[in-house]
Amino acid sequence: MDKKIIEKIKSLSEGACEGDSIEEVFAGCFKAAKKTLGIMPFDEQIAAALALSEGKMVQMQTGEGKTLAAVFAACYAAANGHSVHILTFNDYLAERDKNWMKPIYDEMGVSVGCVVESTPRAERRELYKKQVVYTTAKEAGFDYLRDFVTLDADDAVFPDTLDFAIFDEADSILIDEARIPLVIAGDIEVSDSGELREIYAKISGFGEEDSAFDEDSGNVYLTDSGADKAEEIFGCDIYAEESAELLARITACLKARDILKENKDYIVKDGAVVLIDEFTGRAAPGRVFPGELQPAVEAKHGLKITSRGRIMGSIALQYFARLYPKLSGMTGTAESAREEFEKIYGILTEVIPTRLPCAREDHPLELYFDKGEKRRAIISAIKEAADAKRPVLVGSESIEESESIAEDLKALGVKCEVLNAKNNALEAAIIAKAGESGAVTISTNMAGRGVDIKLGGEDRADRDIVTNAGGLLVLVTSMRESSRIVQQLRGRAGRQGDVGESRYFAALDDEMIEKNDLKNLAGKHYPTEKTEGALSDKALLREVERIQRISEGDSFDERVNLMKYTLIGEKHREVTFGKRRSLLDGSYNCEMWQKDAAGLYEKAAERFGEKEIQQLENKVLAALLNEFWCDYLDYTTYLREGIHLTQIAGRNPAEEYNIACEEYYNSAADSLPERMTEKLEKLLTCERLEDYKIDVPTRTYTYLLNDVGEELKAKPVLVGVFSDSYEESVKSLESPEKTEENSENSDGERTEKHGFFGKLFGRKK
Ligand code: ADP
Ligand code: MG
Repeated sequence: MDKKIIEKIKSLSEGACEGDSIEEVFAGCFKAAKKTLGIMPFDEQIAAALALSEGKMVQMQTGEGKTLAAVFAACYAAANGHSVHILTFNDYLAERDKNWMKPIYDEMGVSVGCVVESTPRAERRELYKKQVVYTTAKEAGFDYLRDFVTLDADDAVFPDTLDFAIFDEADSILIDEARIPLVIAGDIEVSDSGELREIYAKISGFGEEDSAFDEDSGNVYLTDSGADKAEEIFGCDIYAEESAELLARITACLKARDILKENKDYIVKDGAVVLIDEFTGRAAPGRVFPGELQPAVEAKHGLKITSRGRIMGSIALQYFARLYPKLSGMTGTAESAREEFEKIYGILTEVIPTRLPCAREDHPLELYFDKGEKRRAIISAIKEAADAKRPVLVGSESIEESESIAEDLKALGVKCEVLNAKNNALEAAIIAKAGESGAVTISTNMAGRGVDIKLGGEDRADRDIVTNAGGLLVLVTSMRESSRIVQQLRGRAGRQGDVGESRYFAALDDEMIEKNDLKNLAGKHYPTEKTEGALSDKALLREVERIQRISEGDSFDERVNLMKYTLIGEKHREVTFGKRRSLLDGSYNCEMWQKDAAGLYEKAAERFGEKEIQQLENKVLAALLNEFWCDYLDYTTYLREGIHLTQIAGRNPAEEYNIACEEYYNSAADSLPERMTEKLEKLLTCERLEDYKIDVPTRTYTYLLNDVGEELKAKPVLVGVFSDSYEESVKSLESPEKTEENSENSDGERTEKHGFFGKLFGRKK
């Protein structure tokens, strides 16, 4: 912490604060905070704001006042002509923070807005023009995607170029949820040739032994007997290039038939398949299964479809974050993710010390023989605290676990509140009270994050009682994927120097522990007989800690590998989105009709006017790029499902995947002029220009896709999108020796093989 500059800022705040240097602007904010909100910013908050302004990731504990720190950084950027997005953890916090801080912005003469899910689209364009915008990464990302399917530059709301982003609770978005794609789907007319229904009928003879389901990737594969059967029924070499689409359809039909369950995964309503959102458990109209799966489920129910949702665009949160040239963030748990922030996003982490020393006692992990024993320990800890009128916050792993704990408590006559991140505003009010004497609050990882828990309740009435009882007790119920999430939960207690305590529970049959095969790792230390109470074998506990580290995925190679699958799509998306935007805003004119169908073009220009035709041509291509992109997304979905096949053939799947994507993209792009000509022919059948209808989706929907294949979801991918060249960035990630080796191999082979996937799946037109 640079005390000198902080002192300077404070002394400047006595004066007029007129300049736009960082000291002057911060001094102005300091003064404005005192004047409007009556709070005197702490040195730690100024230090955090300085780090944010430098584009850093700031670690600042829960309750230390990050909301205000962000305002300083935002005002400084705004004073220097930048536009700032402050991306909060949820809609509730976006609104809360904007309303809370608005008096300071007003005083500083900085315009501020807020965009949340309920903000009408008509108002968004103006809101995004404000100097500082509070929103969520999800909402901003959806607006970015929605612009991709508009046909009029005037309908686009999201800024052309992004500038500076401050991510609040940054690790949750930039790491934990980084890989979750935001999706936009649209209802598009489709012609149902009945082929898929035929395939569905033909696989009726496939039994259990003919296919296998891979839980991890969520894919269905043919076994040897299944492949034989398919070849017999369809009379072809099932793994040959020309059978690629057929193979994808067969496995989709098998998955629709054997894996997906009506009323659990989807419902059939009004002749359409409607997905059930696994997160909320509610029907999610407009959400579609990717690729061939949607039509396969329709075939299963004999539905004849004329219009159906198709995925039109998607972007993973981490890639959305990277659209901002300057990034910064703040969270209570940045330190342990320091390496990831640097490697993935290219930003450094700065740790701001807490203003007061932390008085929370964190107990080490307690391991139990099984979930039953563990539950007993948790319940008795809650009961004990409740009897002593001490508040308890239970961080459970899932909604089911929360509800089951609540039931156990009910049987004991202990009252509790359960939070599932379903209604953030309501739950914020509940969690704000979690520090009240005797409160028992059960929450998932996500629920109530960003909300202040004050000891003794919001009005602090019982502060002394609660402090004497030991402050807030946090119980983490099972092993989490990273120690950061555990830390985040522990950090709910001991805010601003409060007393507090946290305990962390695990059982030998916890999913995380079984998945990582503790039995094998621990060898003779693994207990064979049930014991009551916590296990104490030190060697066993060390192995459990090791599992935590393994699961934190410090495996560099794994992440590099994952990036190799997703970067190519990013590159293609960037090009496609950029091209489309420039067509609509008039900065680029399509000339395919002029060049590739000169005769027809002249006719059309004569009939409808040259200027009108040019405008229409741009729109037609823009709409065609949407079709093109739908096909691309379908194609890459089924490519990924087939990745394992290349491993059988001893190839490098990532490399093959990239080659296939690139080939597909290029060949599909090559087909655009021809497809444009078809549109022009259709146009010429019209008497008047208004009679020509561009194919656009009748409705669009946005949602988060929680169920991407495991191979793409496990870990965020690495930096590289920042550097100029995609190829370079991939190369730079490989170890030097590996690169040489690889390039020798692949250069030699590449020309001849054209990508295994290319051969395997062919190219979809
Ligand atoms: P964080 O986001 O770091 O968890 P918040 O921004 O929600 O913390 O602030 C936590 C609490 O601290 C709020 O109740 C806020 O009003 C209070 N607070 C923040 N800054 C100050 C300050 N400088 N002086 C007094 N109280 C403050
Ligand atoms: Mg906060």
